[in-house]
Amino acid sequence: MSWRASVLTLFPGMFPGPLGQSLAGRGLAGGAWSLEVREIREVATDRHRKVDDTPFGGGAGMVMRPDIVDAALGLVADIRPMIYLTPRGRPLSQARVRDLAAGAGVVLLCGRFEGVDERVIEARGLEEVSIGDYVLSGGEPAALVLLDACVRLLPGVMGAAESASEESFSPGDYAGLLEYPHYTRPAEWQGRAVPDVLLSGHHGAVAAWRRGEAERITRERRPDLWAAYQLARGRTIASSGIAP
Ligand code: SAH
Repeated sequence: MSWRASVLTLFPGMFPGPLGQSLAGRGLAGGAWSLEVREIREVATDRHRKVDDTPFGGGAGMVMRPDIVDAALGLVADIRPMIYLTPRGRPLSQARVRDLAAGAGVVLLCGRFEGVDERVIEARGLEEVSIGDYVLSGGEPAALVLLDACVRLLPGVMGAAESASEESFSPGDYAGLLEYPHYTRPAEWQGRAVPDVLLSGHHGAVAAWRRGEAERITRERRPDLWAAYQLARGRTIASSGIAP
């Protein structure tokens, strides 16, 4: 069976949105993955179909009710991981994306307002995931980001031409490094030339240049990744018995 995504949202019209186009869209149309979108309001039974209420303890904004969110999760829950998108979650990583893509699929809960009642997060054992240290108005764009990252890794979605094997945050030759710069034709553009080594036809020299650039960019832009890379490299050198 293909990879299955279920999304719980107050705004079903936001899906598939951008995921209906390009690689993800073709994969969706071709059956590489499927998308089920449920409107949380469909489980609200009172006259006004209320899904939220004011926070105990006071303060601004509204909170999504635990009984409503629980009933909505009940519509789709199975063996798949259930994720609540929230700025206080664990930051989404390529490693988590790879694991999710290798599984049966995912259930995503999109918050609105101030978020959801804490008790349903506990009761359902929801995994909390953030897409970055900034605040969105709702979980829907975060769900689209997470799905895009997973879907492109599914078998048959990304062609060989768009291989994921050598990119940032992936194991392989450039593990732990940001990607090196890319160039294509024209060889000279607005007075800017492509680095000579890339035109040399010398594969070893090209590989060395790319590694040097990947290291420089990582060192300059991401001290956190650079420190982890050096640590990992130090360990490799130590275990090979060669003095660093
Ligand atoms: N009061 C919350 C923010 C609520 S934003 C706080 O201060 O943490 C409303 C909803 O948008 C959240 O429930 C969550 O589902 C979603 N959201 C906002 N920013 C997000 C982020 N960086 N990552 C994932 N989801 C986010």
